[in-house]
Amino acid sequence: MFEISHRTEVVKCPNPSCPRNIQLSIGKVPGGVNDSGGWILQCDNCGTKFPYKVKNPDDYSSVKSGAKILDSWDNDVPESKIMTLKKHDLDSFPEDFSFDNLLFVQTGEYEKPTFSDIEENIFFCPGCKTHLEPILYAQLSDKLPSINKSINSYLNYYLKGRAGNPDSIIVVVDYQCSCGFNTKGVLYKDFIERELPIEEEHQLILIDVIGADLEFTIDGVYDRDDCLSILQKLLIRWQVYYNKVFLAVPFIGFDFKNSEAQRVELWNWILKNTIPHKTTLLTRKATLTSFLEGSANTGMDINVLKDYGLLNPTVDELTDKKALFKRDFHAKFYAGFDRKNAEVLVGSFNIHEGTYVENIHFKSYDFGDFFKKYILKMNIIFDPRIIDEEGEFLLISEHEDRKEFIAKVENYTTSRREKIYELINPK
Ligand SMILES: [Zn+2]
Ligand SMILES: [Zn+2]
Repeated sequence: MFEISHRTEVVKCPNPSCPRNIQLSIGKVPGGVNDSGGWILQCDNCGTKFPYKVKNPDDYSSVKSGAKILDSWDNDVPESKIMTLKKHDLDSFPEDFSFDNLLFVQTGEYEKPTFSDIEENIFFCPGCKTHLEPILYAQLSDKLPSINKSINSYLNYYLKGRAGNPDSIIVVVDYQCSCGFNTKGVLYKDFIERELPIEEEHQLILIDVIGADLEFTIDGVYDRDDCLSILQKLLIRWQVYYNKVFLAVPFIGFDFKNSEAQRVELWNWILKNTIPHKTTLLTRKATLTSFLEGSANTGMDINVLKDYGLLNPTVDELTDKKALFKRDFHAKFYAGFDRKNAEVLVGSFNIHEGTYVENIHFKSYDFGDFFKKYILKMNIIFDPRIIDEEGEFLLISEHEDRKEFIAKVENYTTSRREKIYELINPK
């Protein structure tokens, strides 16, 4: 299958008194055949109609927000443009109208989470305590063909519109350790039709091993780079399993002038590994300010992105709401939770790279205990808004004969974690 690259274009509504940003996603086939044409757009805010030239108006390009597509034309079809403009009374729209307020952002493909089974293992065999991530992936590679077989038979129903609308794929595999211990691994992938079948086992991300004692394995002294790998694995697990992620981190990168690029990179690391609507970041105002300065000096001006409505909502929330700044704090903890359970990584680690060592450990709590011990003690205004999440995932589980996988759509109404545990350990 050919790759399509996308870029974001933000165009301000041509009505000078309307503040609306209209966000478009323009898809192109690099080096391939791209249709030229355009759309008749209508601003969601003021109703102004205007023509806008785009590549691939009828297939790969779309409007993400701010306007409706009323019509489209194709430059290869004679009269198509003129007829379309006439139909919408836009034939007098100036041919040379230039959208002065236009921003292009090259986004490329969405960055997928990656899981390294080489760096800093967090999942160990509950029986013999040896690390199991590389072994589990090696076993998974043999199982991939039969996992894909179950996905393909599911897709037959899905494509006919008869089989739900899963947001994700959860694969539950049996794991047999050389020590004789048997357990299950839980792996995750976004459900994106064009990425199926799964080409490579690392596209499935290990988020859990049933019975693995994370409190035992994530505990001790680590260098900062290893702390980052551990936190990354937990952030991926939390965004799948839980509904909220809370990061209390006084310092992100160093404040030195010559470490600006690295500081911006660390912020981007956080944003890349979290889902904005689930994430709250608590930091010092000075930490945000040095990020804003650093990003302007390294070519990504936050104020421009904010002006075009493109700022990552996690940062946007920080720039708008003062409630999430705290001046005098030195506590550092990273947590994922739903209305029942919370998991916390806590210790001396701020978000920094390098070989300095830090102490960190992992703890599990009932949500209520976590809230009392951590959030309330921070003395901040934070509404946890434990809104249950709803959705469907495609559960692919290994049949007992260990040769076959079965795919089934499951509904979750509180959190994915609760549902997955209910399915793995039926009462
Ligand atoms: Zn408008
Ligand atoms: Zn073992």
